[in-house]
Amino acid sequence: MIEVRQLTKSYGPTIAVNNVSFDAHAGEVLGFLGPNGAGKTTTMRILTCYLAADAGSAAVAGYDVFEESVEVRKSIGYLPESAPLYTDMGVIEYLNFMTQVRGIPKSQRKERTRAVIELCGLEDVIQKDIGELSKGYRQRVGLAQSLIHDPPIMILDEPTSGLDPSQIIEIRNLIKDIGQEKLVLFSTHILPEVSATCSRILIINDGKIVANGTPEELAGQAKGEEIVHIAIRGPQAEIETKLDALEFVSQWAHVETDDGIDGYRVTATQGSHAAEALFHVVVDNRWSLTELRQESVDLEDVFLNLTVRE
Ligand code: ADP
Repeated sequence: MIEVRQLTKSYGPTIAVNNVSFDAHAGEVLGFLGPNGAGKTTTMRILTCYLAADAGSAAVAGYDVFEESVEVRKSIGYLPESAPLYTDMGVIEYLNFMTQVRGIPKSQRKERTRAVIELCGLEDVIQKDIGELSKGYRQRVGLAQSLIHDPPIMILDEPTSGLDPSQIIEIRNLIKDIGQEKLVLFSTHILPEVSATCSRILIINDGKIVANGTPEELAGQAKGEEIVHIAIRGPQAEIETKLDALEFVSQWAHVETDDGIDGYRVTATQGSHAAEALFHVVVDNRWSLTELRQESVDLEDVFLNLTVRE
């Protein structure tokens, strides 16, 4: 649904977006993660036709962002970092107004307004002026207006910036809900944001995509290894000889488990599907397995490794 190829954009001597390529598909919540100044906003502004690139191409919902901007804009809901809201308008008045701006047929306007009020949890504030609302509610109104024409693709620039922790959780949950039906691409400079919300992460730094994958894949790639915790009831010496002999196991350490069963922390090569392979070893040897889990890897290390400036 989004296809970006070798996109490049400079502001004078600053290369804001440098040869960026990626794809995004329906059903994904894609996190665009990078430190401030990495090029997230610039990329999003190009995808939403607010800015022209110097080179490269981008297609959104099959339409070229340079040649078919009207079609692109119909296909996306865009929430810029500081959402432009009319603070002296009432919530319902504003949403009604946006149905007209977006060219929604008169017969559908009421229904679309009702639908976004429900989706964004605005029922309690519909009688208020936007200016009276908390930042969290304002952001929900911003989301509601970007959803009002029911676009298949949502592009959200730092949607939780400036919100307090409980508002952040509300907006994250809302993004997840929206992501059930639409492709969502949202940017953030905060790592927990993407691990909590996304099915895939693009890490951008200094205008370049430096990583692209699921949270698990990225963590694995950076470490270059898989770590599995396993506890086996069986003959200890035999188990340990077997662990030594397994090609995909680079090292292992015996760990005490609470119930006295032999536990091991096994380090294996990346991509070896070590947990599954170890399961089969245990079954083939007729030992019994009392614990098997893959150690969760620290995405924070990955992010810092990839984005720290030289
Ligand atoms: P992010 O959204 O990741 O914080 P931006 O896309 O806003 O990054 O910025 C990328 C780079 O481009 C930064 O170095 C920023 O200073 C520069 N930049 C962004 N907008 C402009 C502009 N209008 N004029 C000049 N430089 C800009």
